[in-house]
Amino acid sequence: MRVKALLRLRCPHCLEGEIFPRLLTMHENCPVCGIQYEREEGYFMMSIFIGYVLGGAAALPTILLLLWLQAGLWVHIVVVSLVLLLCSPFIFRYARAIWLHIDELIDPHSP
Ligand SMILES: [Zn+2]
Repeated sequence: MRVKALLRLRCPHCLEGEIFPRLLTMHENCPVCGIQYEREEGYFMMSIFIGYVLGGAAALPTILLLLWLQAGLWVHIVVVSLVLLLCSPFIFRYARAIWLHIDELIDPHSP
């Protein structure tokens, strides 16, 4: 249930309200249950680290493929940069959603 809500980028508390109404815009509060997503200033700093991991997960298959193809260094740099650039909106959204769900599991909002 929670994994499905996370994959659909839904609220970590009610699992129904959407977190992102547009590609890079986030609701301040859940449109269904009303919880505030950003609990305090700097709350999403942990999502940056999650984003690094997701970025690595996105880049690794590309790097392995380019190594298998014996591509040059500049091909690696350009192709991996393009892959990360194309994935960055998804990395941003999922890094924040993963952090919201982890934090809800550790420290749930009071009902
Ligand atoms: Zn909610």
